[in-house]
Amino acid sequence: MSKKEINELSYNNENAFAKQTDAQKKEIFAFCEDYRKFITKAKTEREFCECTCRELTKAGFSPLESKTVLNAGDKVFTVNRGKGVIAAVIGTDDISDGVNIIGAHIDSPRLDLKPNPLYEDGGIAYFKTHYYGGIKKYQWTTMPLAIHGVAALADGTQIKIVIGEGEDDPVFCVSDLLPHLAAAQMGKKMNEAISGESLNIILGNIGCDDEDIKDGVKYNILKLLNEKYDICEEDLLSSEIEVVPAYPARDIGFDRSMIGGYGQDDRVCAYTALRAITDINKPQKTAVCLLVDKEEVGSMGSTGMQSRHFENVMAKLCAMTHKDYNDIILRDALSHSTCLSADVSAAFDPNYPDVSEKRNCPIFGGGISLTKYTGSRGKGGASDASAELVAKIRAIFNENDVKWQIGELGKVDVGGGGTIAQFVANLDVDVIDAGVALLSMHSPYELASKLDIFMTYKGYREFYKHNC
Ligand code: MN
Ligand code: MN
Repeated sequence: MSKKEINELSYNNENAFAKQTDAQKKEIFAFCEDYRKFITKAKTEREFCECTCRELTKAGFSPLESKTVLNAGDKVFTVNRGKGVIAAVIGTDDISDGVNIIGAHIDSPRLDLKPNPLYEDGGIAYFKTHYYGGIKKYQWTTMPLAIHGVAALADGTQIKIVIGEGEDDPVFCVSDLLPHLAAAQMGKKMNEAISGESLNIILGNIGCDDEDIKDGVKYNILKLLNEKYDICEEDLLSSEIEVVPAYPARDIGFDRSMIGGYGQDDRVCAYTALRAITDINKPQKTAVCLLVDKEEVGSMGSTGMQSRHFENVMAKLCAMTHKDYNDIILRDALSHSTCLSADVSAAFDPNYPDVSEKRNCPIFGGGISLTKYTGSRGKGGASDASAELVAKIRAIFNENDVKWQIGELGKVDVGGGGTIAQFVANLDVDVIDAGVALLSMHSPYELASKLDIFMTYKGYREFYKHNC
């Protein structure tokens, strides 16, 4: 057999970076520079939502609420409670023939402040935190942290808080034990070495000079917060404040082939989906970009994928494209729709080869990763895409030079994970997971290959352009 024959017959996954022309590499690097800047600014779901609305408006999208009728080529978006966005470009086909959805989540693992967070101990003021999503707690100590969020005041106004991002801003941190005194801690299991209740954020050390005042450091912090933001302690009780890594996303490697940064799960898929939909003009199928919150905690609540919000917006899109709207139009639109569940997967990590099965694991530089099913062990909790859907997506990617690969999240018995795919599938929509494979997923410094980021964008864009 010739090498050519073997190549034609077999599926081989490889790092495709070297195969890109200089012009292609330039395009990949330019796209990723925009991405790097975007995720440096958008570190919370609320911030991502705001930045997304700005991009959409720049690209000619109007608020859905400003329209009563929608026609092919119209571009609209709507915001869900400041924490999610749905954008759509109306297609030439009837909406009851289905829409092409790309759905990503914009929440990431982090430390949230507890409802009553501020206290003083040992002459130091702290915020108590409650971690959000699946974190390895030890990764959050002894690193610079920034505070992002909003305080909702009783009079209905909202105060935005961001400290730790400006060059002259102070940052915050969680302490860890010195090795000299850590014999007992170092003997513990990794998941017990740092407790949730020890993830307290250090805020200050200057007290009041009045000896009768206890907790002077705490009151001094309250005074500073009041001076800067005009808020009091009770305002913290009606706030959503998130503690996130204070550093920017950066190029990684001598060859600058990767991006390192916080919250790439899943903002790398959210950003590429956003860029893809802003490239679309009058598609055949209506293109929908769905950015949701709360995936990291089970997609619960009014801003998560289990909420009726998406269905409600779909009903509006149906009603606004149909003079004689009835419920069947919405039901048909959903049953005939196709969705890429745009979420990250785990790339093969040569430092930890034991958890992956090499033949079924995405690699860095292998392109956009398809995951036919998620779940764990005996496919428990899996949303399984049909072979027919995998074939359709494979054809679109192959015909349009989108480098792609397919894999699973780790070895069968080792673990697993889920995405919003299952909740979209429950709406009677065909779904497959497709996104970027990361290293160090859920850590405060996740890594992605620039080639994979670009191919994910290109794959999403081609998906929107095609009739599934
Ligand atoms: Mn995710
Ligand atoms: Mn995740």
